[in-house]
Amino acid sequence: MVFQSFQMRVLLWGGALLLAAMGVVFYYSTAIVGSELLAETEDRSWGQLNTVRWLVEDHGPFESEKAFDEWVDQLASRQGIRITYIVDGRVVADSEVDFDRLSELEDHSTRPEVLTAMADGRGMHRRQSATLHKDMIYVAWRMEATSSLPDGVLRVAAPFSLVRDRLGDLRRNFLWIMLITVGVACGLAALLSRVMSRSITEFSNVARQIGEGKYDKRIRVVPGGEFAPLAHSVNAMAKKIGRHIRTIEDQKGQLRAMFDGMNEGVMTLDADGRLESYNAALDGMIAMPATARGRTPIEVTRRYEVQNLVDSLLKNEGEDVNSVIIDLMDNRVVEVGAVPYTDHNGGRKIILVFHDITVMKRAEKGLKDFVANASHQLRTPLTSIKGYAETLLDSPPKDFEGARYFLEIILKNANHMTGVISSMLALAKSEQVGKAFRRVQVSGREALEQAVITVTPLASEKDVSIAVEIEDSDLSVMGDEEGLLHIFHNLIQNAVKYSPKGGEIRIYGSERDDKVRFCVEDQGPGISAEHSEKIFDRFYRVDENTIDGEGGSGLGLAICRRIVKNFGGEIWHDGYGRDGSGARFCFSLKAASLD
Ligand code: ADP
Repeated sequence: MVFQSFQMRVLLWGGALLLAAMGVVFYYSTAIVGSELLAETEDRSWGQLNTVRWLVEDHGPFESEKAFDEWVDQLASRQGIRITYIVDGRVVADSEVDFDRLSELEDHSTRPEVLTAMADGRGMHRRQSATLHKDMIYVAWRMEATSSLPDGVLRVAAPFSLVRDRLGDLRRNFLWIMLITVGVACGLAALLSRVMSRSITEFSNVARQIGEGKYDKRIRVVPGGEFAPLAHSVNAMAKKIGRHIRTIEDQKGQLRAMFDGMNEGVMTLDADGRLESYNAALDGMIAMPATARGRTPIEVTRRYEVQNLVDSLLKNEGEDVNSVIIDLMDNRVVEVGAVPYTDHNGGRKIILVFHDITVMKRAEKGLKDFVANASHQLRTPLTSIKGYAETLLDSPPKDFEGARYFLEIILKNANHMTGVISSMLALAKSEQVGKAFRRVQVSGREALEQAVITVTPLASEKDVSIAVEIEDSDLSVMGDEEGLLHIFHNLIQNAVKYSPKGGEIRIYGSERDDKVRFCVEDQGPGISAEHSEKIFDRFYRVDENTIDGEGGSGLGLAICRRIVKNFGGEIWHDGYGRDGSGARFCFSLKAASLD
């Protein structure tokens, strides 16, 4: 509405006030000036009447009424007034009427001023002249008879319309001045209010922009001093809100980064237990459907345990139980933790954290298996040692030779236990979590030669020959010497162990595509395809290959794989030997540059 605008209101009020003020001034000034003009005209008329009276009294005697009328005519024309002399209502002389026509004039004794003069000596009246048809002011004085004139009433009349005209002029001029003044004042007020309303608009625009979130905006144009505290408060408020918003955005960013960077899956639920948001890790864990938002946990996870947990927390029942463990389709085990919280509306919401504990569970199982296997590995020789030691004590043989047999078995079992424990330590060492392996350049040729030397006595015992066929180079790899030696030693020792008497072991070494590859081949029983992978597991042994008394711990190949993995390489059972029998084990490592 146009009348609701500040500018219009200022204009209307200003105009109305000015008009009212000028109206009052107009009324009083014209009234005062009008009454002053009237009073002045009356005074002047009285003055003129007095002068005329004195002249009439002083002049006489007049020869005749006609001579008196002529004298009156001359005097009136000089004074610019009308002079009348009335005797008992009859006009004896009148400056405005010819002497001859005086007799035609009506009786003037009833004129109000004449009546008053006759009664009180003086009289005055304002009216339109019946003779002259003009507004006149009449003043009359009762005259005593003089030598040439009978007593009567001397009357002077002055045109009153002059006063009216002057008053009219005054009013007209005043009205013009008033109109111009009001016009100019309205124009100035319009200009002022326009300037003001423009700065108010600018002021409110900035305030609106701040309200819309542009907290860097500041009010710099203030419509007036009264607005300065408001502008100051709005600016301070914008600064404060801006600071808070920045802090909130920073925290939100941090939270979002944390949310997205977490390995744990996170799902937030609203007060109705429906999904509000989730992170990428959860999507990777349980492949969230595209329309997951707004659904219940059971719909997206398909696990009733999660739904039960959420329901109990929403009903405020499950304060004690705030986590469940669920199995996913792909054999992964996930622990789901639930944390309830109250939002700003007082609604109870829930955050679900999905923690993948598959590795932990596997490690737990691995540890259990390891302990069971290790106990088994150690208990068998220990039982044997205990049994033979008891036999020795209970029924000691008569000669040392008899005892030697028992003692040798005890020693053999003790050696086996030492071997198992050494292997376990070696495995533990190779599996040290977090240990950074410092890989250096190691000569494969040298390590192999050293391992062959170590195993040669064992091979000689079985009349097994070892043939090394390697490329004419250093075959350097990235790793560490002890580890590389361990791998060679283990593979060659196994080959010797499972070789038939008089058998042959062949060892190959070559470098191709930045990789150095070694293979150890024997003529033993070989390993069937079903065991091909499992033999690298800890404590895994192929029963049919177990050699009485020679049985290892089943840890050798597991340790080899661990070391090769630590070096960034691979080890595998490569099937049968060259002639289609025996076993062939190979491993490859990254070649070291020889510059
Ligand atoms: P062990 O100490 O028992 O030799 P390993 O881990 O070295 O343990 O070997 C695991 C199993 O793999 C052995 O028990 C054996 O059954 C089989 N095996 C290893 N090397 C050979 C080979 N050269 N020929 C036949 N079987 C082998």
